[in-house]
Parts: sequence; structure tokens; C-alpha cells
Amino acid sequence: MALTDTIIALARGVWRKFAERERAVDGLYASVDAAVALSDSLAREIQTRNILDMNRIACATGCAWCCHYQVGVTAPQALTIAAKLKEGAGSRSLEEQKQKLTALDKRTRGLNAAKRLKARLGCAFLDERNACTIYAFRPFGCRGANSIDAQACEAFVKGTATKAQRDSNWLHKVPFEAQRDLQDGFHMGSLDNGLRDDRLELTAAILVALDTPDAAQRWIAGEDVFKNARIPPD
Ligand code: SF4
Repeated sequence: MALTDTIIALARGVWRKFAERERAVDGLYASVDAAVALSDSLAREIQTRNILDMNRIACATGCAWCCHYQVGVTAPQALTIAAKLKEGAGSRSLEEQKQKLTALDKRTRGLNAAKRLKARLGCAFLDERNACTIYAFRPFGCRGANSIDAQACEAFVKGTATKAQRDSNWLHKVPFEAQRDLQDGFHMGSLDNGLRDDRLELTAAILVALDTPDAAQRWIAGEDVFKNARIPPD
């Protein structure tokens, strides 16, 4: 079996926990947690392999240019992140985090990806050191982001990238594709279980998940809880 197929199969399989717990909310959270654990172990495995150019990855705490893009998230992960924030798992208080999310949402709701990037606004989960306050349970979409050229990342966000930067191989494909495969398998598994095919914008989705009573139960039951948090069309 090719590596891509293996990762997809493993990520698809985390949904067993949801089925075993008869579609209960804690089964949904357990499936997301299992996918996060798989993502972490994939990242560790890639680090320990002798993969060409892995030592050239420029990403480090304090560099957050990639956190200025629109972030997509699935409903299961948005619901799980919101539940963890309510439990106090983020590195900010829930009240402060909600204020940051609300302030950013006012400026970004309804923007497509290009307009969101042009706004040059950092993610509401960035702290004053440009570190992610939910790093341990950040969205799958953030997990494959990497670069071997931080200057190019800065230039893309500022809109000053040269043709040479745009044409360069600034992304390391190995970690990116591994995490993309995991996302694909996780998404397929949710569809296998008859769940809604919702692709959401992170800021809006977390606010909806925090503010909607019984959001997880209602979403599992098929309600369109996140209708105002979808990624706007380009
Ligand atoms: S959730 Fe964290 S890693 Fe993802 S964009 Fe926001 S700050 Fe960056």
C-alpha cells in the first residue's frame, strides 16, 4: 500500500470511536483527538527520517506569516476546539479568546481567501509572541503548513513576492502532503458516518460552536448549525 493510502486509511479509521460510542458527542471528540494524535505522530516520524531538506524548514515560534491566511476547518474539529476552550485548554481565558475571535470576525466574516489575505490580519489564536494559543489541538489545515523560506512567506502576505519567490520550491512537500492525506482520510471517515460535509472558516466556526447551545448534538443530528460560518466562495 502506498504511503498516501496508509495515512488515509489510518485517519479514516479514527471514526471507529464515534461509531463505538453510538454517535455520541464524546465519540466525536474522541475521533478528533485520535486524528490529532495521529497527526502528531506523523510529524514526529517525518522528523526522525532522513528526508532531504527537512533541516532547511524555516518555521519557528514567532514566525506566523502563514497564520495570516484564511483557515479552513471541519465542523468536528471546530466543535472539539470549542469544547477544549470551554474546558480551559487554551493558553488564554475563554473570555479573552472570545473577544479576540469576535474582533477578528467583525473584520473577516464573508471575505473570500484573497480578500482575507489582503486584510493582513493575524489569526485570533496568535498571542503577543506570535505563538499559537491552541497549538496542541490546532486545526489540521495548519499542521502541514511549512516553508523553507520565511522571507518568501512574509512577501506573500505583504503582496511583495517576486516572480522568483513565487516560482521557488518554498514548501516542503513531505510534511505538507502527509498532513493533507490525513485531512482527506479524516473527512472521508466523517462522510462514511453520514455526517454533514461542512467546510468552515475557522474564526466564524469557533464562535458559532461556542455560542450555540448543544451545537455538537445538533450538528450530529444533521442540523445546519454552521450555515453562517462557511468558507465564502472565491
Ligand atoms: S490556529 Fe494557530 S496555527 Fe492555525 S492559523 Fe491560527 S494561530 Fe496559526
